Parts: sequence; structure tokens; C-alpha cells
Amino acid sequence: MNLAHWLERAALLHPQRPAIAHGQAVWANYAEFALRVKHWAAALRAGGVGPGERVALFMANCPEYLVALWGTWWAGAVAVPVNAKLHPRELAWIVGHSGSRLVVSEAGRHAELRAALAEASLAAVLAEPHALPGPAAPPLGVPAARDEADAAWLFYTSGTTGRPKGVTLAARQLRWCTMAYLASVQSVAPGDVMLHPAPLSHGGGLYHLPYVLQAGLNVVPASGGFDGAECLDLAAHWRNASFFAAPTMVRRFVDAARERAQERGGQRPEGLATIVYGGGPMYLADIEEALAVVGPHFAQIYGQGESPMTITVLTRHVINDAAQPNHRERLASVGVAQSMVEVSIRDARGGALPAGERGEVCVRGDVVMQGYWNDAAATAAAIRDGWLYTGDVGSLDADGFLTLLDRSKDLVVSGGSNIYPREVEEALLTHPQVAEVAVIGRRDEEWGEVVVAYVVARGPAAADLAAALDTHCLAHIARFKRPKLYRFVTELPKNHYGKVLKTTLREWEAARGEAAGSAPEGATP
Ligand code: AMP
Repeated sequence: MNLAHWLERAALLHPQRPAIAHGQAVWANYAEFALRVKHWAAALRAGGVGPGERVALFMANCPEYLVALWGTWWAGAVAVPVNAKLHPRELAWIVGHSGSRLVVSEAGRHAELRAALAEASLAAVLAEPHALPGPAAPPLGVPAARDEADAAWLFYTSGTTGRPKGVTLAARQLRWCTMAYLASVQSVAPGDVMLHPAPLSHGGGLYHLPYVLQAGLNVVPASGGFDGAECLDLAAHWRNASFFAAPTMVRRFVDAARERAQERGGQRPEGLATIVYGGGPMYLADIEEALAVVGPHFAQIYGQGESPMTITVLTRHVINDAAQPNHRERLASVGVAQSMVEVSIRDARGGALPAGERGEVCVRGDVVMQGYWNDAAATAAAIRDGWLYTGDVGSLDADGFLTLLDRSKDLVVSGGSNIYPREVEEALLTHPQVAEVAVIGRRDEEWGEVVVAYVVARGPAAADLAAALDTHCLAHIARFKRPKLYRFVTELPKNHYGKVLKTTLREWEAARGEAAGSAPEGATP
């Protein structure tokens, strides 16, 4: 099945309902959205892009993004959404790897993109988001026939290590991701609203699908990105609005909500339905603060490109059920398996581990990717006996709640003991002078590795902050887990999706060589 049938259906049932808004203005209703998509599909065909061929989308969030995406599907082609913040050379690599015939991007970037494509000897054609080159063609009346296992979206992983891999998602995965949202996160009725402050090219973008299926409204912020105050205004304007946010965005949204509350006599944000957070660790201290400032509007999902947005869920109900005896443990977890997937913890030999034991998180179900694009070896390494090995370490409790510890490569082994950076980070974040923290291992002759904490201090870092944090850790975690070194920095290195780049921190440590002092330092190395 071609997913574009969802749009066809919404346009038949609800032609006049608003489909896409730009900021606070309706940009297209469902009839208009579908018509633009049919024109886009026809222009693709006229330009020689046939079913199964790839079209790269390289642009910031804008209403035309959704037309280009659905138009690509309507024509039976495969969308390759690429984060607009990538370097032109990184884009060129993805265009080459995916074999994209066309790159859709704002006109202002065409010159640099043309140069990067030429440098990589690629012949892909550049197009603008609002119009395709070539002769005018009558709209393509019906979506091209596609099998549910045919590629629909190539999702290039964020590449916090090495080259990105092209996760191949077919209609099957996108459908199950949508069904899991409706069954496990929240239901959607016609007119419900989804804001898109996070890049449409990444996981959060998949959450526009349930809103097309159900004839809801997808709102692209006028800023094209994330701005806490703008999200507050959009929710108040459109009402019943949800959005997906990485933990760093949640933190910024909470700051904006706190500021707004101070201006308006303590009033909480209006018009919010659910803020779905995920994509990286949410620390207990942060979610507790978010709940106190914003109110009971949060749900968490855990997923990865290879099992898009769909491994576990911590529902609003669980998050708000403060009377539950294990409530804080549950809040610190990533919840239970989403509907229609199985989650299991496995050891290095693939054996299933019982509740309470730590091992690699594995997931099985129709939402798991078809494989990596043109990379059979990587696919075989990731999917074994039908299970996707996520590379995340975690444990399930007796009630099926999953606690994530870390990516297996982030584990620190010191003096023969495993130290999960996340535990140390959680402990440090409860100190009032710690705004953000990332913990890594540093090679050490005596211990194998020692724990190093990169800390962004709240306000100016006091001269004795390292000593204060050491005392704080001694009061909260086992002695051997506490950092041996503190590095005070003004900000943490993050990728374009806001994930902390521990690989960069490890490079910084390696570059420091033997000079391993622990005195607080004021600036980023
Ligand atoms: P990506 O494929 O770029 O979306 O990255 C997926 C990875 O982000 C996962 O394998 C986890 O390591 C991490 N991640 C995603 N969701 C969560 C979450 N809710 N809590 C902690 N880590 C998460």
C-alpha cells in the first residue's frame, strides 16, 4: 500500500478542514494539500523520477516540506529527508549513497550544494521547495501502486559515530509507527493539532503521519525551528496542541514557560495536549521540574531510527500517577513496550535475560526497519534471529518497565567495574549548581578508564565546585562511580538534533594527553 492513500482519504472525507498551518495562519486545507501533492507528483514524473527512485529533501521545516514529501510518495518515489543543518558535503555523501536523483532545497543554498555535488561527481538535479523544474503536467490523479515492503523513507542516522547509515523504512514501518502512536501515546481526532518545532527530517517528523491519517492539523512554526516562547503562543492559539521534543528542547520550553508564568501571575501554559519527549536521556530532576512548571502534559517515547519512535512508551497516565508506590522509579524509566512490539534484554550470545539483569535492549515487530540501504553486512549485524539489537544497555523490571543505562559504547569500565554514565549524570544533576552534565570515560594506566564529568554550571562556577560535587556524589552514588575529574565548560557539544556528542568529549580528553588536572576551568577546551 502507498501511504499517500491516507492523504487521499483525508481529502475526500474532510476537504475543508485545515491540514497545514504556517505559524498562526492556515496554509492549506486537505483539498488544497492533496491538489498540491498531485501536482508535485506529476512534476516528478515529468522530470523522469519514477517509482522507487530517491528524492532528497534538504530544507528547514516549512509547509512545502510536507507537499514535497507526500508528492514524492504519491509518485511512488522514496523520500530521503536530510537534516537541513548538515554541511553540503555531508548532504552530498547521503545523495551519493542513496542514489538520489533530485535534491529539494531552498534556492539560496543551491550554489553551495551544486559545488558539493560536483565535487562528489554527482549528477543529482536541484529543485526548490515550492516548484519543480520542467514542463507543467496535469495533476497525477491517484497514488502510484506500491508494496508495503517497498522503501518509502530513507532515514539517515544522526551519525554520532562514523558515517550515517540509511535506515530503510517502508510503508509497513511508517504505518506501524503511526498505529503505535495512536494506541500507545494518544488518540487523534479530526482537528487535533501537532506542532513541528523539531526537524521534520528526523523522528519527530514521523509524528505528522497520525495527524494526516486522522485529518488533524500539522503546524509548522513560522521560525522553522524550536523557540520556546513561539511554541507557547502556538499552543495557546491553536489549542489542543501536541509536539515532540528532545530533552534539550523540553528544558528550553520549561525555561520559556517559567518566564511566561512570572510575567502572568503564575499562569501555566494554555492549549497544550501532550509534549512527547524522547530521543535522548531525560533525567529525573528535569522531568520533575518540567511537570511542576508546565503541568501534567508529558509522555515519553524511546525509539531509534531502526525502530522509528517505537520501542517503549511512558504514558501520560503513568507519568501523572504520583500515588503509585514506584512512581519515581517509573519516571526515571522509559516505560513499557509500545503496542505491537516485543522488547527483550539479551546477553552477548543472544540469550534472553530475566527481569533485573542488564543487557542489550532488543526489539521485535513490524515496525523494525527493512534493513540498512545497500548495507547487508550492517543489517545482518543489527537484526539477528528477528530481533533488532539497539546498541542500548538496559534492564526490565518485573512489571515490564525498561530502564536505559547507556549506549553500550558509552559504558565506562574502571578498575574492572562497569559504570553507567547515566547514573552519575543523574546524581550530579540533583546538585543545584549543575545545569547540564555529560560523563565519559578517560583512558587511565592504573584503572583502565576513569570517570570524567563535563559540567555546565548554573551561574558562575565557584572555585570549590569540583570539591562540592565530589561530596555530593559521595552522598548519592557508590564511591567508585564518582568522577575523578571535572571539566567546567560553557556548553556541551551537541549534534544537529541536540544530542550530546560524547565522541567529541572523548576526543577532547584524548587531545589533553596526560594533562589531567581537575581544577575548574572556565571555557570550552
Ligand atoms: P536516533 O536513531 O538518532 O533517533 O537515536 C536513537 C538513540 O537515542 C537510541 O538508541 C537511544 O540511545 C537514544 N534514545 C532515544 N530515545 C530515548 C529515551 N527516551 N531515553 C534515552 N535515550 C533515548
